[in-house]
Amino acid sequence: MDNCIFCMIANGQIPSTTVYEDDDFKAVFDIAPANPGHVLIIPKKHAGDITELPQETAAKVLPLAARIGKAQMEALGADGFNTVINTGEAAGQSVMHFHTHIIPRYKGEAPMVANWIQKSYKDGEAEAIAAKLREKL
Ligand code: 5GP
Ligand code: ZN
Repeated sequence: MDNCIFCMIANGQIPSTTVYEDDDFKAVFDIAPANPGHVLIIPKKHAGDITELPQETAAKVLPLAARIGKAQMEALGADGFNTVINTGEAAGQSVMHFHTHIIPRYKGEAPMVANWIQKSYKDGEAEAIAAKLREKL
């Protein structure tokens, strides 16, 4: 896709620090890492977000994320890693080409906490909302 920065990274038009590449994906360092070694898994074929990602590509994302996270633990001494997918501007997606963040994490760091405020359901509200969702699934 024209003017898509991650398409350009995927096809090598824009340089990136690449740690893994195959027919489907390029895995590169995030330009503004949450920690050194923060990786973005970028599919080579443009998909705007997870809802547009073909199922056969999507099925390969988690195994690759696990592989990269394991490498971060073994090679960088990370104690864990966050796997993050933002979908939509409201959810913090800033580049509209699907990608998965793999962020190495260390003991003693403040854990990544979701920035939502925990709410509660009124009587009957959970069931009513669940019914709406079930209808679409
Ligand atoms: P999002 O907010 O969409 O989940 O994450 C987009 C990520 O892409 C951000 O963490 C940002 O630092 C990273 N990013 C934006 N532009 C570039 C770029 O040109 N090269 C690389 N390697 N990362 C980028
Ligand atoms: Zn793209």
